[in-house]
Amino acid sequence: MRIAVIGGGAAGIGAAGAAKGIDPSAEVVVYTADTDVAYSPCGIPYVHGREIESFERLFLATKEQYVNTGIDVRYETTVTAIDPAAHQVTVAGHGEASYDRLIIAAGWNYAPVNVPGADLDGIYEVKYIRKAMEWDKRLDSCKSAVIVEAGLIALEMVAALVHRGIKVTVVDEASWPMADVIDPDIIEPVRQSWQDAGVDMQWGNRVTAFVGDGSVSSVATEQGDIEADLVIIGTHKVPNNPLAAAAGLKIGATGGLIVDSRMRTSDPDIYAAGDCTEIPHGLTNIPLQGLSGSHAYAQGKTAGTNAAGGRRDYRPVFVPWGLLAGEWMIGGVSFGETLATALGAKHVVGKAQGITRARYYPGVKPIIVKLVAEPGTLRLMGAQMVGGEGIKERADFLAMAVRVGLSVEELATMENVYSPAIGALNEPISVAAQNLLAAL
Ligand SMILES: Cc1cc2nc3c(=O)[nH]c(=O)nc-3n(C[C@H](O)[C@H](O)[C@H](O)COP(=O)(O)OP(=O)(O)OC[C@H]3O[C@@H](n4cnc5c(N)ncnc54)[C@H](O)[C@@H]3O)c2cc1C
Repeated sequence: MRIAVIGGGAAGIGAAGAAKGIDPSAEVVVYTADTDVAYSPCGIPYVHGREIESFERLFLATKEQYVNTGIDVRYETTVTAIDPAAHQVTVAGHGEASYDRLIIAAGWNYAPVNVPGADLDGIYEVKYIRKAMEWDKRLDSCKSAVIVEAGLIALEMVAALVHRGIKVTVVDEASWPMADVIDPDIIEPVRQSWQDAGVDMQWGNRVTAFVGDGSVSSVATEQGDIEADLVIIGTHKVPNNPLAAAAGLKIGATGGLIVDSRMRTSDPDIYAAGDCTEIPHGLTNIPLQGLSGSHAYAQGKTAGTNAAGGRRDYRPVFVPWGLLAGEWMIGGVSFGETLATALGAKHVVGKAQGITRARYYPGVKPIIVKLVAEPGTLRLMGAQMVGGEGIKERADFLAMAVRVGLSVEELATMENVYSPAIGALNEPISVAAQNLLAAL
């Protein structure tokens, strides 16, 4: 059994490890255009922000450790074509290589900003660790930066650049940060903290050109020019699927590869995983693309298990998410009020402001929880949160609550831990549910 994997990110490495686990005798080859595998790109913004002391800390395993697991990783090696009929891939500089099963884990790219000057030096897409190491040195002498679109990674980069003492301007056509995901009232504390930190926020504005002589020196927008010696691209993710499309594999409405519950594409011997796929949303069945590293890894494990002859299914998703945006944590699950309205999904909302520890315990932080439920059944449809701590655990719990179909009535009477240092008497999730019922 020869299993070829295209891509060495979370999905590709998850797939290779699972395949080897199911069939230790299988020959598993990972082709990656990158210089490294087994590092956490998720930590890059925090090294830029100096919360983490060095990029070395982001590496999870050495190249030798992969050799020891029997996975053959081909670094800086690009696959240029897939021939499903011949069961072959073309590898740049090495010709054709055959496979019995192929796993595509080619990931994502930032949506291109198609304006003049997009090829100037000084425009940074935060993604690969070696490039991040080089860019980090440049940040020392950087005075002003423009962030183009306030997507999730861009939010982390705002905090990082502010920590580095760099003057930051955010330019986004939307009316608030991460507008396609989060409600304006939930992101408001973050927006306020950026304002307090001196971040210039230009909502409803659009970049028209990057300007400079070799290297960027300013950014032209519909509302005027902004001086900048650095541009950070924070646009949404697009699936990296030119190879799959050229091979005739079925691509969905989002641009992601269509896969079944076993992560199999329209070709029975080709699997796909991670941000190059699209996955149905658990409530609406709407295909979603560009999820997270934890989704990519779990999908990779599913694809690798099945490709090697095992059996594992990947279920529709409810997408718990969360992140630290400066001094605030934000997060949620499924959809919030804005997205529910945009989808035309009838909903009712309950909201509560609470605290994360006993009110007298040092370090107590505020937290706002907002629940979205289906009218009538009162089934939980989604949630959004902002607070000082405790967002991740609540997002994970609420994702499971949506998945199993809990109603806000059940949440209103949930049991909760009360211990001064780690939790308040009243759980804000429960209070939000009680408020929803009271309003009804
Ligand atoms: C700065 C940053 C912060 C992040 N923060 C978080 C976070 O907080 N939480 C979280 O869950 N996730 C986070 N992520 C993960 C991210 O959002 C994605 O979900 C994740 O990277 C998807 O993994 P993937 O393996 O599908 O794709 P990718 O990581 O894009 O990996 C794809 C790989 O395929 C290779 N490749 C592509 N085409 C070819 C080809 N033709 N031949 C050979 N190789 C090829 C690429 O070089 C790349 O190594 C972060 C990512 C970044 C960059």
